[in-house]
Amino acid sequence: MLLPQAKDIKLNGNVSNSKMGLGKSIKMYLTIFVATTCVYMVLYQYHMSRQPLATNEVIKHTDKSSSSASSFIASYLWSPMSSINATAMGQGEGQGQAQMQLHVSNATELSSSPSASIVESAMSFLSTVSLPLSLSSPSSSDAKTNITTTTTTTAAAAAVTTTTTATTTTPTTTTTEKLLRTTRTTSHAHNSMGSAGGVAHKTRSTFIAVSEPPPLYIITPTYRRPEQLAELTRLGYTLKHVLNLLWLVIEDANRTNPLVAHTLDRIGVPYEYLVAPMPEQYKLTKRAKPRGVSNRNRGLDYLRANATEGVLYFADDDNTYDINIFEQMRYTKKVSMWPVGLVTKTGVSSPIIRNGKLEGYYDGWIGGRKYPVDMAGFAVSVKFLHERPHAKMPFKPGYEEDGFLRSLSPLDNAEIELLADECREILTWHTQTKKNPAALALNVTRYGNTNLAFIEKLLVRP
Ligand code: UDP
Ligand code: MN
Repeated sequence: MLLPQAKDIKLNGNVSNSKMGLGKSIKMYLTIFVATTCVYMVLYQYHMSRQPLATNEVIKHTDKSSSSASSFIASYLWSPMSSINATAMGQGEGQGQAQMQLHVSNATELSSSPSASIVESAMSFLSTVSLPLSLSSPSSSDAKTNITTTTTTTAAAAAVTTTTTATTTTPTTTTTEKLLRTTRTTSHAHNSMGSAGGVAHKTRSTFIAVSEPPPLYIITPTYRRPEQLAELTRLGYTLKHVLNLLWLVIEDANRTNPLVAHTLDRIGVPYEYLVAPMPEQYKLTKRAKPRGVSNRNRGLDYLRANATEGVLYFADDDNTYDINIFEQMRYTKKVSMWPVGLVTKTGVSSPIIRNGKLEGYYDGWIGGRKYPVDMAGFAVSVKFLHERPHAKMPFKPGYEEDGFLRSLSPLDNAEIELLADECREILTWHTQTKKNPAALALNVTRYGNTNLAFIEKLLVRP
């Protein structure tokens, strides 16, 4: 639009009438040309926004404000922040909030309708489909292959993963309810995605329904200290990549801490937050303490009362986990083991395998243990735990793993499943965070009326 005007000014200054006419014509043609281009661009944008959801868009989490309902919902669900935003959405995203509520209520109706079970079983497959995606996403080339070959279905499944975690974080909810709700929300995602894009629907209908993968129960002991929320945040977001998981966060305390509950809520992984204080006699000792033992035994009690199948794993809050190990341990029949990277001179704690057979254990300290393994290096099936009703962890520093594994006897060495490529890979690390002093109290005279007064309340002090 600027161009004709500029020409006009130049022509008006020093030329004849005929040239003026020519100038006007040029101006008119240019105006028409520019206007037509603008109209085409607007139409093209509109056309693109009506296109069915492209998987890549979702994975990259683009364009949340797109006018396309399907792409909006998918990107919304895919967002790790969605669980927070679902309850705290501002004015600007009011439309999105309305859509979410609408679809959630649809889901409830769906699960109670006659066809609900069909949709649910179909969706349980979709949950399974999302596994390779979540597993391979860290290695970009593999992830790309998955995305392109499974097209929109994968996107839907990815969305399901997030939805599941976003809606099942109430500490009071029982395990069964959580797992049920997982399926229900799953149907919702299927429904909304299916109705939004015709192509996606066609692709999905060719799949066969299979059941969900076995549940994983992650028992995490934790305790009050300045690093606590940081540790839980890091572990929580690792677990967020894992499907069909219940996180049992058990604090060595007499009561729960709202700051911990708040952190768990925000992460959005299905969890139970329990307490199990260390017995006084151990707290008072000047010698090594049996750290996290009462917490883990509380976790075992919880599983005996609430779980029937799946696999349990003790994940300390300060360790580091490659999510691949979760998908491997999920199918443990009795007990599975694998190497654990150490931050000591020994470097690793691992079963020793020769000719495919468990020959012994490698660790910096054997200490007469039958099972000199690290807490992060084994998983146990819930069914097997039920068959060993007296199995528990002893309050014996250094012998916690050994004592627990011994209490699972009879257990033949040949029954121990060797994971992580027959113990040739390190997928878990026994990391340690430097201990830090408590933060000083805030200078209220100086900062009393600032945001720091709020932040001060978010710090965990021993
Ligand atoms: N822990 C606990 N109470 C304590 C000390 C530790 O519940 O008094 C928990 C801690 O959060 C961790 C586990 O027990 O999940 C193991 O403790 P820590 O990491 O201190 O032991 P390390 O790894 O150094 O052997
Ligand atoms: Mn530790």
